[in-house]
Amino acid sequence: MRNYKMNTKCVQAGYRPGNGEPRQVPIIQSTTFKYDTSEDMGKLFDLEATGYFYTRLQNPTNDYVAAKIADMEGGTAAMLTSSGQAANFFALFNICNCGDHIVASSSIYGGTFNLISVTMAKMGITTTFVSPDCTEEELNDAFQPNTKAVFGETIANPALTVLDIEKFAKAAHGHGVPLIVDNTFATPINCRPFEWGADIVTHSTTKYMDGHGAAVGGAIVDSGNFDWMAHADKFPGLCTPDDSYHGITYAEKFGKEGAFINKCTAQLMRDFGSVQSPQHAFILNLGLESLHVRMPRHCENGQAVAEFLQNHPKVAYVNYCGLPGDKYYEVAQKYLPNGSCGVVSFGLKDGREAAEIFMKNLKLAAIETHVADARTCCLNPATSTHRQMNDEQLKEAGVPAELIRISCGIEDKEDLIFDISQALDFI
Ligand SMILES: *Cc1c(COP(=O)(O)O)cnc(C)c1O
Repeated sequence: MRNYKMNTKCVQAGYRPGNGEPRQVPIIQSTTFKYDTSEDMGKLFDLEATGYFYTRLQNPTNDYVAAKIADMEGGTAAMLTSSGQAANFFALFNICNCGDHIVASSSIYGGTFNLISVTMAKMGITTTFVSPDCTEEELNDAFQPNTKAVFGETIANPALTVLDIEKFAKAAHGHGVPLIVDNTFATPINCRPFEWGADIVTHSTTKYMDGHGAAVGGAIVDSGNFDWMAHADKFPGLCTPDDSYHGITYAEKFGKEGAFINKCTAQLMRDFGSVQSPQHAFILNLGLESLHVRMPRHCENGQAVAEFLQNHPKVAYVNYCGLPGDKYYEVAQKYLPNGSCGVVSFGLKDGREAAEIFMKNLKLAAIETHVADARTCCLNPATSTHRQMNDEQLKEAGVPAELIRISCGIEDKEDLIFDISQALDFI
């Protein structure tokens, strides 16, 4: 549905039923698929024919929903994964081997920071972290001959820094590698990173895309723009025959448009098995059907709460790129002109202790590690999601110890502000 508007894609892209077929995306709750002859099935294994044989590799429900997300992002191919963590791991590991190197924004989700700085380091893949606000020169200096990817988040969770996607894409392409952008917080409703030069987009669909706190999931989308063959020496996995998969050379067989996702499915999903269940894909699709209606409300509530906090005497500072004067206001005007997300962070003048008093007196907003839910929730990252970091690392990652993250849901903004106001009165 390439030529339709985003609102229409959210509702109808991906699954287009034929005459007499189910109106809603069918949940194909089957691990396996039946064939009449071994020859029929052999063609699937050789990737000579398209079709399904085992849900760990592909399932129609998942493919319908992945196709919708690809369409929404303006990409050529996509796949679902069991979680956002799996999506980011697969997106990086699909092109980075032992001995390779990543350049990443230091302002990223704590789970992703752990994944690349600890777990992938054990696999022999090293990372140089750069500030999202670094100069072009500092960014270029972070590259090594073995650098294979650049990684950042459109709006970082929870630091709420906004990535200058064009700056990072330019540096990546100057060094012959793709830019991978985690677009979880902005969603394709508010930003489509491919329009600014990103090559691969990832999502934790657990957040706004599902939006109801119901299903953990992830997605990877390929823009189809990166020319792997032009940098064949850097990407042997895509540009030389895969002995583990019938000697296929993905970049030749599937071209720029399909190589990345086909390799990621045929190799990484086959071997690691982080598949999304078709039930979850169905739930995710229900969320996608209203994403374009929910995101503006999340943004409206986020803006109202940020403005209220900014004017409150007990609040030291507020981070929200929709506030004029915010460090990321200008860059957000460029990349997120219609709004960013519902997540606001702030620090109380009386620090960590005040944060505790505030949080335990909230009545509507619940304390949760979750964000980007229809229901408002809040968190102190230093004592929860980021507790593996010391104070120095917390500061560097943009999440100082006193920081509170509030994820504004889609309730009435007056009720949210009332709740926040009464909780602040206890300090
Ligand atoms: C939550 C999150 C992840 C991890 O996703 P899970 O679905 O929890 O595995 C990755 N990136 C960002 C930006 C997130 O917010």
